[in-house]
Amino acid sequence: MKIAIVGAGYVGLVTGACFADFGHDVVCVDKDQPRVDALNRCEVPIYEPGLVELLRSNLGAGRLTFTTDLKLAVAGAEVVFIAVGTPSRRGDGHADLTYVHEAARQIATAVSGFTLVVTKSTVPVGTGDEVAQIIATTNPEADIAVVSNPEFLREGAAIEDFKRPDRIVVGIEDERARAVMTEVYRPLYLNQAPLMFTGRRTAELTKYAANAFLAMKVTFINEIADLCEATGADVQQVARGIGLDNRIGAKFLHAGPGYGGSCFPKDTLALVKIGQDHDSPMRLVETTIAINEQRKRAMSRKVIAACGGDVRGKTIGVLGLTFKPNTDDMREAPSIDIIQGLVDRGAHVVAYDPQGMVAARMLVDGTVDFADSAYEVAVDADALVLVTEWNEFRSLDLARIKAAMKSAVFVDLRNIYRRDEVVRHGFDYTSIGRPAGA
Ligand code: NAD
Repeated sequence: MKIAIVGAGYVGLVTGACFADFGHDVVCVDKDQPRVDALNRCEVPIYEPGLVELLRSNLGAGRLTFTTDLKLAVAGAEVVFIAVGTPSRRGDGHADLTYVHEAARQIATAVSGFTLVVTKSTVPVGTGDEVAQIIATTNPEADIAVVSNPEFLREGAAIEDFKRPDRIVVGIEDERARAVMTEVYRPLYLNQAPLMFTGRRTAELTKYAANAFLAMKVTFINEIADLCEATGADVQQVARGIGLDNRIGAKFLHAGPGYGGSCFPKDTLALVKIGQDHDSPMRLVETTIAINEQRKRAMSRKVIAACGGDVRGKTIGVLGLTFKPNTDDMREAPSIDIIQGLVDRGAHVVAYDPQGMVAARMLVDGTVDFADSAYEVAVDADALVLVTEWNEFRSLDLARIKAAMKSAVFVDLRNIYRRDEVVRHGFDYTSIGRPAGA
């Protein structure tokens, strides 16, 4: 099939590369010329495991190309995916649909023959209607069907998620779209990934409901972790104890510094806004957002407490900056708030992240010094804070780390170490929801 994808960011790139790998003929369009040039040289502007290899093989096979020429790409396509950003609108948290609307207008003037216009971007309920309206107004001759096909991939495991999804949700209003979308996903369908057809509004809302539920689950276990600290219980055992119940499930029950990233914060905000607009308040989600916001700052207070209540003039080493491992994405990462909280209280922060430092420099430069490894971060540090659970931080040489530090304070905000092991090396150890006696 001939597929065009508008927007070659995290989602557009992974979608394009995977569809090409299925054997489809894919053109990815982005308005960022340097990005397109780099991609055509197989230089990938983001870090996502396995993506370079997938791009290389499909570029080489001629099934995947990159261009800034939307008209040309769309004119030759049977299916056009919109995968542009939908950030939070400044001020009210509503999803900013500027890019989606702009893409719809551009697509309208370029389509030829019956074409599916599929929104992969996360968009509020009713956006499909708006896209259809924009296209009909811009080009009354256009023969299109607007489909919602939200994306559920996780950064860091995006290719695996795309190729082995738990489900594919496709929202249609025009029956002609069913056969085309079935064909688009046929290689997965054969692997029995459930292809679920719904109405368009249902598909749009399903994406927000999924992200809000996951954000709520994380926030729930974070609050339980606080209660564990207050009562002497162990959150990891509580999480296991509830997670083994199939009705609850074990995933997303890892207590930590609060959720971040390019999706949960903006999608929860957008869902609250959608609820307000429809006079159907999303109170659990509103509370989730408030708790999570407070939590990120509370983490810097936790570090300060571990340092004896004062960090003025002290050097705090930070391990991990990205919002989760295996990505270079720094959007809304908890590390930003934690670092700011420490700097505000007079600390000198030195940080290292395996992939996130380029993006981090743009966000926290001037307030932070960067190091080249975990061991370099430890040099003369008064405390070490593990913020992101990259694999390379899981088996640090603790003796070497301690020898390099000024004082042996270790704050593990991801619970990746065993208390007895760290304490045996002479550290004063603080983690999440696992008090000393637990
Ligand atoms: P991104 O910001 O990484 O990429 C968007 C790209 O679209 C940019 O490269 C931009 O230059 C390009 N673009 C914007 N308007 C364009 C236009 N008119 N023509 C051509 N190119 C255009 O965004 P992302 O992280 O890939 O997210 C895209 C959408 O997918 C969002 O709605 C997001 O909520 C959703 N989503 C993201 C993830 C994730 O993990 N990142 C997961 C699921 C869903």
